[in-house]
Amino acid sequence: MRKLILPILLVIAVGGYYIFSINKANDQETIEALKQEITVEEEVIPATELIFGIELTNLEIHEGKVTRNQTLSSILSPFNVPYQLIDELAKKSREVFDVRRIAANRKYTILRPKDSLSSQAAYFIYEPNPMEYVVYKLKDSVEVYKEARPVTFSERSVSGVIDRNLYLNMIDQGVTPDLIDQFADIFGWQLDFQRIQKGDKFKVIYEEKIVDGQVVGIGEVRAAYFQHFGNDYVAIPFEQDGQVDYFDEDGQSLRKAFLRTPVKYSRISSRYTQRRFHPVQKRYKAHLGTDYAAPTGTEIRTVGDGIVEEARYSQYNGNYVKIKHNGTYSTQYLHMSRIASGMKPGTKVKQGQVIGYVGSTGLATGPHLCFRFWKNGRQVDALKVELPSANPIKEENMAAYNQRKAEILQLISNVPFPDEDPVLVINN
Ligand SMILES: [Zn+2]
Repeated sequence: MRKLILPILLVIAVGGYYIFSINKANDQETIEALKQEITVEEEVIPATELIFGIELTNLEIHEGKVTRNQTLSSILSPFNVPYQLIDELAKKSREVFDVRRIAANRKYTILRPKDSLSSQAAYFIYEPNPMEYVVYKLKDSVEVYKEARPVTFSERSVSGVIDRNLYLNMIDQGVTPDLIDQFADIFGWQLDFQRIQKGDKFKVIYEEKIVDGQVVGIGEVRAAYFQHFGNDYVAIPFEQDGQVDYFDEDGQSLRKAFLRTPVKYSRISSRYTQRRFHPVQKRYKAHLGTDYAAPTGTEIRTVGDGIVEEARYSQYNGNYVKIKHNGTYSTQYLHMSRIASGMKPGTKVKQGQVIGYVGSTGLATGPHLCFRFWKNGRQVDALKVELPSANPIKEENMAAYNQRKAEILQLISNVPFPDEDPVLVINN
């Protein structure tokens, strides 16, 4: 047996060496090849590189992000740009971009001649947002100009089944808060998103704004669908009278003639009632308004188009504005810290326009808006009154609308729901 083992070991050893040397040879070849490639690379004359449309020849790039309290001057002076020039730049920039709006965390780029630490920067490029950049040319003659990066739109759709709430389920699908806001706004009058059910379903088809391959925001919502308690709600965009609105399948507007609330992101602190204990007067009396608690200075929006009837101060109401919307409806906004400029009897206002700011003037314990809704000269509960809708599709637009509707409904039905988890949908 021994006689046999030895030659086998020998074969293995020799074989091993052989294989090893092949590897070595291969490595050697690879190294040679790499060396050649590197040499070849060095011989190629690089094509002129462009950054922000500027030729990079003999320029080196310094990139940075604006830090807190940094100004044009503090960014540029380390690059040997004299104060005089910075001053001239700021003045020249005024019509293109106000340099006082240079903000923390925004990107900037400085291009400076190579091989000379003492040389003055040749260009400063500031990016106020992902879509635009401002170029400051510092050499020879000073120039300032703004360029927009090309924006492309791509259509995207998401769908889902609610198992927690709209916000979380949409975030799960990679949707941004912006889109969730838009979606909630579109159906704001049809659905109360605080009260949606597990198992409710949604679909949205929308545009994404893309710059340099990066999603920078959302464009229009092209179609939206919500299923609540088995009922279908669709939102179909259509342009009428120069304005795009969302309509239902019958061509009724999803928007009301009045906004739901005059103050965004607020909490109702007191409802309309015929009898409540008044916190200041310490007695029971009717409260014929809806109170929205919000910090002083919060914007107050008129809930509908109309004409300012009153805008003044009174002892109990404080600073207030009253707006007449039409022959039937008026609204009144009390306790403002400040009435917006331009508000005086006769001023025309558009739905959503800021008419004043939350405060606690007049008879009020803390900052809030007391919102009063008048119908035919009587105060009614703004939260309960049946509100008229914005204009439906006009007769003459109906044929065009129906065609659009067919396309949109097809788009919606083409979007599949993700794997519906039967446990989450049925058991709740
Ligand atoms: Zn009140």
